[in-house]
Amino acid sequence: MILVLKQGISKEDTDNICLWMSKFGVSANPIFGSGTTIIGLVGDTSSIDVHLFDNDERIEKVMKVQEPFKRANRKFHPDDTIVDAGHGVMIGGSKIIIAAGPCSVESDEQVGLIAGAVKDSGAKIVRGGAFKPRTSPYAFQGLKAEGLMYMRNAGQRNDMPVVSEITNPSQIELFNDYVDIIQVGTRNMQNFELLKELGKSRKPILLKRGFANTIEELLMSAEYIMSSGNQNVILCERGIRTYETATRNTLDISAVPVLKRMSHLPVFVDPSHAAGMAWLVEPLSKAAIAAGADGLIIEVHNDPKNALSDGQQSLTPEEFSGLMNKLKPLAELMGRSI
Ligand code: PEP
Ligand code: MN
Repeated sequence: MILVLKQGISKEDTDNICLWMSKFGVSANPIFGSGTTIIGLVGDTSSIDVHLFDNDERIEKVMKVQEPFKRANRKFHPDDTIVDAGHGVMIGGSKIIIAAGPCSVESDEQVGLIAGAVKDSGAKIVRGGAFKPRTSPYAFQGLKAEGLMYMRNAGQRNDMPVVSEITNPSQIELFNDYVDIIQVGTRNMQNFELLKELGKSRKPILLKRGFANTIEELLMSAEYIMSSGNQNVILCERGIRTYETATRNTLDISAVPVLKRMSHLPVFVDPSHAAGMAWLVEPLSKAAIAAGADGLIIEVHNDPKNALSDGQQSLTPEEFSGLMNKLKPLAELMGRSI
């Protein structure tokens, strides 16, 4: 980090700033120019907030030399991270991994049926929400612990890892027992107490980007989990809120190559929540694979019209099978496989 001091700042003020900075455990190195003095801070500056200097009359500007995320940063970990999701499923390698299933678990039979169907089409992970963070308190809130049991049954019967969304740190024990991958939804991306608790779990975490968060904020949330001890993080772009109303969210497709460049963590895309409409899932899935995504998470329902949540964006198992047939050659074209 570099501090550029205001013109004419005295040597005494400069020394005082250096002394202050050294209390953060970094070495502060002043360089005196003809009119301007700069101070180079060397060492771990992660505990120094750039806004600390906003109202400081001695300091003109602050420049970050390195990104504030260390563990998620590709600079310190050049090789791709491969996350072991269990049941032989590796995320982040040459295979593109497809997770599919209903938005909400509705019954043991329903999620079992969908899991079997999507597996037959080539999906490797089954998804399904049991604790649903709905915009309206009157909307279906999920089957909760019972739903997680049904997810585990579906995973065991089909020999597939399962992913489900957690909404509160108090649910962690339940999730450690019942699911293979814990999903953090868009609304909880900055629930820092939850992220810190998930850092103590050894389960892979599918961390979705907040719909109003920057890429750097997503990586800082990954950093919360990783700095608390869990390195098994999968990032997920799922659309952000823009002024556009033609789609539910705007899929930030450029987030995929940007994240792959900035971080070694695997990157998933959720075309279903980005699109909000079933017909858009195919082009967005293709775009995600072309942009370098390591996996997709897609909503599939046996009876979308009567789904308890997100039916409008859910594919039928038949539509999902058709989509997979189109994605497989595309993956090969990208030097990968599904
Ligand atoms: C979901 O996956 O069902 C979900 C609610 O996703 P998001 O948090 O991205 O809206
Ligand atoms: Mn959904």
